[in-house]
Amino acid sequence: MNVTRNIDDIRRLVADARAAGQSIALVPTMGAIHEGHCSLIRAAKDACDFVVVSIFVNPTQFGPDEDFQKYPRMEDSDLASCERCGVDTVFAPSVEVMYGEESLTEVSVGRLGKTLCGASRPGHFAGVCTVVAKLFNIVLPDAAFFGAKDFQQAVIIRRMTDDLKFPVRIVICPTARQGDGLAISSRNSYLTPAQRKQATGLYGALQMADEKIRSQHPCASDVIEAIRAHLNAHVPQGQIDYIQIVNPKDLRDVGSTDRAVLVALAVQIGGTRLIDNTLVDGP
Ligand code: AMP
Repeated sequence: MNVTRNIDDIRRLVADARAAGQSIALVPTMGAIHEGHCSLIRAAKDACDFVVVSIFVNPTQFGPDEDFQKYPRMEDSDLASCERCGVDTVFAPSVEVMYGEESLTEVSVGRLGKTLCGASRPGHFAGVCTVVAKLFNIVLPDAAFFGAKDFQQAVIIRRMTDDLKFPVRIVICPTARQGDGLAISSRNSYLTPAQRKQATGLYGALQMADEKIRSQHPCASDVIEAIRAHLNAHVPQGQIDYIQIVNPKDLRDVGSTDRAVLVALAVQIGGTRLIDNTLVDGP
């Protein structure tokens, strides 16, 4: 497995692979590689010949009071995980390589970036889109793989790709979970054992909502109130950031649940912000 840190090197490796007739997959990550990332890598390997994983903790997607400084960085074990998963090349650039001294151009996706997580994380999705657009231009992949755990991010990347005509196929992979249902996340490592126990309540709330929607098709506000009650009972240390039920295509809030909906929530437990979601098919 190669590890590349500059743009010329990764471009050369990808060009060689392409010249040998190989298709190229990109899996963008911020490192702290876990089973969720590995599931994306496996999907990438199934679909393409040459898999590039990028590891880059992107400063522009963190707000001033967020965890950019303390975000887990563990390159040695990340490289070992990538090697184990059969990655061909890791691209692990510095902030300077990605942004230079001053990078003025930003990609944003209008209203899609202002709802759900975007409401409490202004500028977050512009940071995500900007870095993903750079990665697409550097790696020139045929396909790029994202997790449904960050459903809004996946919808936004797909929209950016369509709008800006990137010739990249966007693949969205299912959320990998722990045995008790908690969505795997690099940020789970911040949780104390007591907080970790409560964090399962997010999945419990989503399962309850999924069941309620499938069996009764209630109005969205009833489901939101039931989720709120579930979280208050099971995640007493949790501060609810949002609970929303939206159209999974355009992320607009919906009033009824008689067609496909995305139930999404964000809860702060102690200093840790956790997100999760479930897609409920229509009847
Ligand atoms: P991150 O390193 O957190 O920026 O995540 C990199 C990619 O992995 C994103 O596309 C995430 O949606 C995806 N991802 C993170 N956690 C999971 C998970 N539990 N299951 C599936 N994909 C995930």
